[in-house]
Amino acid sequence: MKLPGIGPKTAQRLAFHVLTMTQQDVTEFARALEDVKTKLTECTVCCNITDRNPCSICADSSREDSVLCVVQDSKDVAAMERTHEFNGKYHVLHGAISPMEGIGPNDIRIRELVTRIGSTDVKEVIVATNPNVEGEATAMYISRLLKPFSLSVTRIAHGLPVGGDLEYADEVTLAKALEGRRQI
Ligand SMILES: [Zn+2]
Repeated sequence: MKLPGIGPKTAQRLAFHVLTMTQQDVTEFARALEDVKTKLTECTVCCNITDRNPCSICADSSREDSVLCVVQDSKDVAAMERTHEFNGKYHVLHGAISPMEGIGPNDIRIRELVTRIGSTDVKEVIVATNPNVEGEATAMYISRLLKPFSLSVTRIAHGLPVGGDLEYADEVTLAKALEGRRQI
């Protein structure tokens, strides 16, 4: 089994660490891992990964329903939340359009987005996909797809490093990118 970002050296270090843990801690750790698989599900509203459905963000009535921030990944929701600058709701695509990797619009949660917009009163869709080729292609596709709806589609500004990942942007850069969004 392989985990992202964990090479053989780190794996060995983690294994040695587990040996120093108490039996109870190891049991709890194993149970927590199991819970990830059994308890986590996709929110039927925003497609974010959650342990309750709808997720806590969708269920939060203090947040605006009229602004949707579209991101590629659940981790991007966490990144946006860290800025404390966004008080709307999210939509998680679970990927980006990538002809090179054979990922088309039907392979990510775009259909769910359109259905959602058709049935709710959304005024603005902020496309916060990653600032790389796939993210841009996805943003353009979504913008064209949403043309028939009377809402504004905006793209976060490029204070973000091009080719980078949203989740690694610091809060200030991300907050500025959100503030400087423009119509697409
Ligand atoms: Zn949700």
